[in-house]
Order: sequence, then C-alpha cells, then structure tokens
Amino acid sequence: MNCAKRFWQFINKDVENANETKKVAVITRLFSLIMCIYFVIVMAIMGFSGNFQEVAAGAVFCSVYAFLFYCSYVNTAKHVMVLVQVLTFVWLIYGVHTLGWSFGVQNLLLALLVYGLLTSYRGVKFKLFMAGAASVMMVGLYEYDLLVATETCFDSVSAGAMQWLSVILNMTLVTVLILMFSHNSQDMEKKLIDYNEKIRKMASVDPLTGLKNRRAMMEAMENFVKSGETEKQQFSIAIGDIDFFKKINDTYGHDVGDEVLIAIAGHLNEYMADKGLVARWGGEEFLLLFWGMNGDNVYMELEKIRSRLEKVMIKHEEEDISVTMTFGMDEYDPSHPIDYTISSADKKLYIGKKTGRNKVVF
Ligand code: GH3
Ligand code: MG
Ligand code: MG
Repeated sequence: MNCAKRFWQFINKDVENANETKKVAVITRLFSLIMCIYFVIVMAIMGFSGNFQEVAAGAVFCSVYAFLFYCSYVNTAKHVMVLVQVLTFVWLIYGVHTLGWSFGVQNLLLALLVYGLLTSYRGVKFKLFMAGAASVMMVGLYEYDLLVATETCFDSVSAGAMQWLSVILNMTLVTVLILMFSHNSQDMEKKLIDYNEKIRKMASVDPLTGLKNRRAMMEAMENFVKSGETEKQQFSIAIGDIDFFKKINDTYGHDVGDEVLIAIAGHLNEYMADKGLVARWGGEEFLLLFWGMNGDNVYMELEKIRSRLEKVMIKHEEEDISVTMTFGMDEYDPSHPIDYTISSADKKLYIGKKTGRNKVVF
C-alpha cells in the first residue's frame, strides 16, 4: 500500500515549468513506463524463439523509452511527449516490417491516436486530421504487409504470446490514458465546483455575522415574489436597528461593537429559524422576512423578539452589555414592487426611532 502510494507520488510529481500542466507529463511517464515493461516481455519472447536480433532491437527501444521516462522529470514535458510519440511510431513501422501484420504490433496505433488526442491542445480540425492520418497509416501498414512478405521464424507459442501481448498492451494503454485523463479533468471539475460554491457563498454571506447579506436577501425576496407563492401566502418584512449603537462603539471600542453585532445576529437567526429569513441589511440594521404570517401575527412575534433581545446580556470583561432594538414592519402588498414594502418598513422604523426607540411600529 505504502509502496503503491510512493510509486504514485513519483509518477504524479508536478512539472517544474510553471506554464505546463502536470497532465501531459504524468500521461507521458505512464506511457513510457508501460512501453518499457512491454519491451522487457518482447525481449523474453524473442529470446525464447531465438530471434536475437529482435532481442537487441527490443533492448534499444526499451532503453530509449527509459531515457524518455527520465527526461519527463527534467525536460519540457511537451517535447518529451512528442519524442515518445515519434518513438512509438518508429516501433510500429519496424514491428510490422519485421514481424508482420499477424503479430498485432499495428494495434498500438489506436493507443497512439488516443494519446495524441488527449494531450493535444489543438483544435477539433487538427484532431480529426490526426484520426484520418492514423486510419490512412493503418491501411498503409496493411497494404505494405501484403506487398512485402516478412520472413518470420517464430514457433506458434511465441507468435501467440506476441499477439496476446499486443492486445494486452493496447487495452492497457487506452484504459490508462482515458482513466488518467478523465481523473484529471474530474479533479479539475470538482475544484471548479467547490470554488464556485465558495465564491457564491462569499457573495451572499455577511462575513462578520454569517447571516445573509443584503444582496442575498433581495434575491430571496424577489424569487419568492416571482415564484407566485405570494398569491397563496402572505409575507411580511421588518427592519430592525440597534438603538444607540454608536454609544457601544464609543464606550467599549469597535471590536466590542462587532461582538455585540455577532451576538444579536445569532439570536435573531435562532428566533427566525422556523419563521423565515434574516439578513444583515446594513451596519447595525437587520431585515427579517416572515413567511405565511399576516401583519398582526408578525407584530406579536416581533414584540416577543424585541422583549427577549433587551434581556440578552453580552459579557465584556466584568460588565454585561445589553442593547435594545427598534423595528419597523409592513405586510407585502402584491400590487406594488417589493421595494415599496421595504421602504414602508424603513419609514416605520424611523418613526419608532423618533418616538422613543425599543419598540415595534406597524
Ligand atoms: P439609533 O438609535 O438612532 O439607531 O442610533 P445609532 O447610534 O445606533 O445610529 P447611528 O446610525 O448614528 O450609528 C450606527 C453606528 O453603527 C455607526 C457605525 O460606526 C456603527 N457600525 C456600523 N457597522 C458596524 C460594524 O460592522 N461594526 C461596528 N462595531 N460598528 C458598526
Ligand atoms: Mg442604530
Ligand atoms: Mg442604523
């Protein structure tokens, strides 16, 4: 397990070049490594059947792939990738020329095409051209094999082993390439989804209190109105403002003011959990949205909230700080846009401030 993890870390090592993606390097490394293993087996089969010239050729190919594997760590991955593709191409022609069509070396062309398609950043036209060229090449190799008879001196066991090996190699390469590529893009997709979600949250949450911000609350109200729910159920809006909040800042400092805001926001959030939504509307102002309640019921709820808030004690050093809130509220009127109700609640809040504070005005 540990060994597999270390091996994977080794293969998955990032490229030093900042303007290159890791994907090309990792795919190239895996491709080269699989080819090295393939050539070790080819050499064994060739040795078994007494084709020592092919053993030597296998050793050369294996060494070059091993060298390119090494190069993928120290050189530009894109260049190494091209060399791996050229080398594979050379082996294809050499393999079909020396062994013949029946040994299946030409199947490698499919893996080579997949490799090229997955790692190329060129447009669709170029990729279609690659596919066309691969098809022409395949037909060309077939015709070449028909025209130029190859002398194969293989026993049937070795010939069968080569055919098996070609099929396994091709399947392995195509599977590894596609798995690697989809794994990479799914990773990237997940990263983007998480990042978008984070951005979306950041854009809709007030960082100090964790409540919805003004933008998110406007969106929620507009969606509610658009959904047609307002025809089935009433909803009411209240704007609450902490009384003499400036005094808290002046007396205890801005940080304590922040703590008071966080505490009040927490209480409002708790009270509103089963009644509707709450947002930080401005500095020390909160907007409360009540679903499915008429104005009279909301008035009673707000009275409860107001009287509970004035009993809240916020500890600061040896002192207990308490604040009061004034609320202005109104029922949503479907014949006017939502801003009309907000503005009406705001006006009533102003009246509350003018007439003594710590009250609910409907
Ligand atoms: P009123 O009863 O009329 O509402 O009086 P007030 O002092 O609450 O109202 P005023 O609008 O004069 O002052 C609001 C203060 O709230 C001023 C501003 O510095 C403070 N404030 C706004 N946002 C924040 C914040 O995020 N943190 C802190 N600590 N203070 C804030
Ligand atoms: Mg205030
Ligand atoms: Mg204010």
